[in-house]
Amino acid sequence: MSHAMAVAGHEAVEARFTEAMAQGRLHHAWLLYGLKGIGKHMLAEKLAGIMVCEHHSACGRCHGCLMLAAGSHPDVYRVALIEGKRDVNIEQVREMLAFLALSTSQGERRIVILDDAERMNNQAANALLKGLEEPAAGSMLLMVCADLMRLPATIRSRCMLQQCTPLADETVRGILSLQLGDDVTPEQLTLATELAKGCPGTVHSLQDKKVAGALLSWRQLVHELAQADIGMLENWIGQFVAMVPHDLIISLLLAPVYPRLQQAGDAKGFVAAETLHQAAHACARWPADVVRSSLRAGPTLLAHVMTLRAALRSCSQSGR
Ligand SMILES: [Zn+2]
Repeated sequence: MSHAMAVAGHEAVEARFTEAMAQGRLHHAWLLYGLKGIGKHMLAEKLAGIMVCEHHSACGRCHGCLMLAAGSHPDVYRVALIEGKRDVNIEQVREMLAFLALSTSQGERRIVILDDAERMNNQAANALLKGLEEPAAGSMLLMVCADLMRLPATIRSRCMLQQCTPLADETVRGILSLQLGDDVTPEQLTLATELAKGCPGTVHSLQDKKVAGALLSWRQLVHELAQADIGMLENWIGQFVAMVPHDLIISLLLAPVYPRLQQAGDAKGFVAAETLHQAAHACARWPADVVRSSLRAGPTLLAHVMTLRAALRSCSQSGR
């Protein structure tokens, strides 16, 4: 995948970075924040690319760009949450600061990409804070953060904050058609774009054609949930609940319900609307509840779907 495509949608941040660099007033710590799955990490890689590229354009072809892409550029160091670990820890931050401190002589440059910045524990954040107060000349910290408010204010205030916003559907569709490969059907691509809601990184699971197929049949099944066949709902859940990401199941389940919630607010249908609201809320909470309380996913989902179905039925009765 080319860099240009990978960071589609964040051109404004890129332009600010390039301009600041050209004017020699590049802040030493940039903090890229925004929802999961919108390409913040790829953007950080691209900004690092702009710095190490011989043409300052992340061309993707020069020696600097090729080394960066291979993960072997000597000026670039990457830190992220290690899989299976709870936090980004102080040792990781210390190693990173030691790397940045190498850039003391004129013209030397050290770049760190710190992913999952919101996962730093207190110790790690305190260590980083010291580094931010006394930056080494030529050091550049590119931080990526999915939850800005989990970072201490003292860190936020020492960084150049750059918000990354969800992408336009058109852009998402372009990115996903590359990610999902040549054999993706237009129907699957439309579904993936719809589910991504501007964050293409959240629908990786649709690369698995079985997951994509299951979601398409689920969407059809719950489109008119009030009329849906209970046996088919039960079958689908039994067959696919272990394979399909739970948040995507709920996203499709509730998509047709939200407009109903808005319509159902009239006085006559108040009780029914309230019941529907509660049923929808319970569904929305289900993916987290399963994890938090180690619930059995299949039976609990089926129970929520049945409650929602009954609420939808009574809503359409009291509504007319
Ligand atoms: Zn280049």
